[in-house]
Amino acid sequence: MQETFTIAQLQEIILNHKKAGKTIGFVPTMGALHAGHISLINKARAENNFVVCSIFINPTQFNDQNDLIKYPRTPELDKQLLLNAGCDILFSPTVNEMYPVKDERIFDLGGLDKVMEGVYRPGHFNGVVQIVLKLFDAVKPNRAYFGKKDFQQLAIIKYITKQLNLPIQIIPCETIREEDGLAMSSRNIRLNSVERNQAIQLSKALFFVKENAPHLSVKELKQKVNEMLSCYDLIKTEYFEIADSETLQPVDTVTPDKTVACIAAYVGNVRLIDNISL
Ligand code: AMP
Repeated sequence: MQETFTIAQLQEIILNHKKAGKTIGFVPTMGALHAGHISLINKARAENNFVVCSIFINPTQFNDQNDLIKYPRTPELDKQLLLNAGCDILFSPTVNEMYPVKDERIFDLGGLDKVMEGVYRPGHFNGVVQIVLKLFDAVKPNRAYFGKKDFQQLAIIKYITKQLNLPIQIIPCETIREEDGLAMSSRNIRLNSVERNQAIQLSKALFFVKENAPHLSVKELKQKVNEMLSCYDLIKTEYFEIADSETLQPVDTVTPDKTVACIAAYVGNVRLIDNISL
């Protein structure tokens, strides 16, 4: 596996492989890699001849500076995991490489950024789109892989890719969970053991909703989830929403395969998100 730090060097390597007729699969990440990220690398490897992974903690998507400072960083372990997974290039640029001048672009995201995460993390998705477009431009992949774990992010990336007619296929990937159901997240390593025990309740609540969606109303489902989570002193729910999987707007009734239940909560000081398709 090669590691590059500059867009120029990255493009030089990729161009040679493109000339040889290879397809490029791209997995953008912020590092502190786990089995969820590696499942994206594996899918990219299975569907392309050449796999690029980027690790870049993007400052423009952090609305909370403390969250940026505390974001986990495990560069040596990341390299080992990518090497083992058969990744071809790791792109780890500096902030100056990606943002040589201030990025002032504001994107119209069709209202997808106005609900759920958008309410609690203003500007977050605009920052995500800024960096993803810069990375797409640097890598020019045939396919790019995004986890359903970040459901709203995936919807927004699909939208902007269509809006700008980018010749890139966006490939959604299933959420990988710990054995007890907790969705894998780089932030999980910041949980202490008491918080880790309570964190399971988020996925438990989502599994409960999936099981009961056929016979309870949306209102009842929301009430039950709030009751379930209020028993845990370290959990502070920001939102629990049942929404249309495409528009992300809240719904009053569940339509199988077209509805998603999404949750965001602090467990101690760690903010976690998760979702399930109903
Ligand atoms: P991040 O490093 O958190 O920006 O995540 C990079 C990519 O990995 C995003 O497309 C995420 O949705 C995806 N991802 C993160 N956690 C998981 C997971 N548990 N299962 C599947 N994909 C994930």
